[in-house]
Amino acid sequence: MGAGPGDADLVTLRAARLLASADVVVHDRLVGAGVLDLLRPAALRIDVGKTPGTSSSQDDINELLIELSGEYDTVIRLKGGDPFVFGRGGEEAIALARAGVEVHVVPGLSSAFAAPLLAGIPVTHRGTSHGVCVVTATTEMGASTNFERLANPDITLVILMGVSRRQQIVDQLRRGGLEAGTPVAVVQSAASAHQRVVRGYLEGLAAFEVAAPAVIVVGAVAALDIGADVLVRDLVSSS
Ligand code: SAH
Repeated sequence: MGAGPGDADLVTLRAARLLASADVVVHDRLVGAGVLDLLRPAALRIDVGKTPGTSSSQDDINELLIELSGEYDTVIRLKGGDPFVFGRGGEEAIALARAGVEVHVVPGLSSAFAAPLLAGIPVTHRGTSHGVCVVTATTEMGASTNFERLANPDITLVILMGVSRRQQIVDQLRRGGLEAGTPVAVVQSAASAHQRVVRGYLEGLAAFEVAAPAVIVVGAVAALDIGADVLVRDLVSSS
């Protein structure tokens, strides 16, 4: 189940209904605290996220889920955002299905789309960006994504798990042909009381004072702030 990007009122009605009836919830670190308040007080809560580096191994989590499914009627595996967007939800669902467990998947609002929006940035915008590419900077095996191949001024890049790899991202995008003056924005802790947005240009991205969890937006739309009246007015008058 996807828990959405943070605030509890961004979970789906289906998620809220199921959370209110679950026996057990196995959750990650990025699940907003308010979302867990939707559980029955008697529900068992198991945190398998903790801090980076100390989290449970994927095999341990799979095993735990299989075990719990044998003991309880409704076990929810709750993940930040959408469970199938860099959430390893697919792997867990497959492991459970192989073990004969009945699995239902509940979508969630991914930070890939919600974080830019909450910062006033439309990931696509007619005449400015005709597509969006969502990518992680850190692949599963510790290798890094090749950003040189993703340099394309016509589309928006939304980068997850990229804060610590910013210099590499900038170098590769520049080598791929993106201009130093391409707008970028970093949206940190979106949909929480700690949300921060830092804007600038590709050449300065590595020096932004930002921390994870954050989504990096690269492309012309990163200069927009649809929430700010002055820019909405400018946009309207120029269209
Ligand atoms: N399944 C999640 C993504 C998991 S990967 C989803 O769909 O949102 C974890 C990465 O997601 C973080 O490193 C960060 O890049 C991004 N992220 C998750 N929640 C976020 C939030 N509230 N604000 C900004 N970025 C977030």
